Amino acid sequence: MQKILEELERLKAENQLRKIPKVDSKSDGKIVLNGKEYINFASNDYLGISTKTDLREEFLSKNHSLLSSASARLLTGSSPEYSELETTVAKIFNKDSALIFNTGYQANLGVISSLAGKGDVVFSDKLNHASIIDGMRLAEGEFFRYKHLDYDNLEKILSAKREQYKRAIIVSESVFSMDGDVADIDRLVELKKKYNCLLMIDEAHAFCAYGKNLAGLSEGKDVDIITATFGKAVGSFGAFCVSDKPVIEYLTNKARSFIFSTSIPPINIAWSNWILTEKTDFVREQKSKLEKLVSSVHKLLKEKEIETVSQTHIIPIITGSNENTIKVSEKLLSEGYYIPAIRPPTVPIGTSRLRISLTADCNLNDFERLLYIINS
Ligand code: PMP
Repeated sequence: MQKILEELERLKAENQLRKIPKVDSKSDGKIVLNGKEYINFASNDYLGISTKTDLREEFLSKNHSLLSSASARLLTGSSPEYSELETTVAKIFNKDSALIFNTGYQANLGVISSLAGKGDVVFSDKLNHASIIDGMRLAEGEFFRYKHLDYDNLEKILSAKREQYKRAIIVSESVFSMDGDVADIDRLVELKKKYNCLLMIDEAHAFCAYGKNLAGLSEGKDVDIITATFGKAVGSFGAFCVSDKPVIEYLTNKARSFIFSTSIPPINIAWSNWILTEKTDFVREQKSKLEKLVSSVHKLLKEKEIETVSQTHIIPIITGSNENTIKVSEKLLSEGYYIPAIRPPTVPIGTSRLRISLTADCNLNDFERLLYIINS
């Protein structure tokens, strides 16, 4: 116990102690905390789907799927909803097969740890999500991390190391979660071909927000394995992996995070599928709203000569120390904006930040005023 208390004290002293915020409710572009309403610039519900009351009511009036699966898929926890949703996502990504995982975290954990066995290797972007890092840690194979978006560095590592291993997997996010910059998927495809690797892309932040067919940034590209989550732009919960049939069959047999966990309630699976099949007009409408807002916001940043690595709806404002980040976040809260401080280990030490996340329900005026407050 003493060690636990000491660690908590250390986190507190370093302004790194995390607390669950008291969220009362959320509605279009807004969040109520401790009874007070704020502009929500921190949501991953990029298309604003999760808070649309009319959508939810329409869905619930027609759907009476079970609220529990009561078991893992391989036992009794499967039902038609799962295969319907798997067919839907495989089609969106133009792949043979799909497998639903309970979360994006579990998808990356299960895919990487089972595919990178003894004698295999993973090459991973240095800023990939914790779930990818944890998958590599759990894997029996080895891993190397290349400098963020530095494909010359990746090629150097590939040419030095690739030959020593059997199966090799290159892994990258498409839209990076904390910087909003994007991978060069064409270059990654070139490298995976040249060095005989599998290419895995995590589309968590791009699925449904990018791509004509909603398939994110890897749409139409020769990517072998794609993971993505339903918990962000789809406004639902859960995740999936799409790939060739043998890969999906392999994961069904080997991915421990899939095998040993009770599957998501069917009602939630049905909700994801309903959004992706019956509500595509609304999805596209919201996607187009988001695209317009993102384009206006980036135009404004350019006009104001504010440099950013972001090319997307995720815009980091690097505030450096934990202390400063908390200060700016609290100032914004007092001005009616909810943008929590993002600190290590979510981001590298010294790069704490406010992660602005634009959704279809945000607006340009609020963003402009936000910049004014930050700079005043
Ligand atoms: N991959 C990335 C890039 C993410 O940002 C996240 C969640 N923030 C995940 C995977 C995990 O997804 P989930 O929340 O569904 O576990």
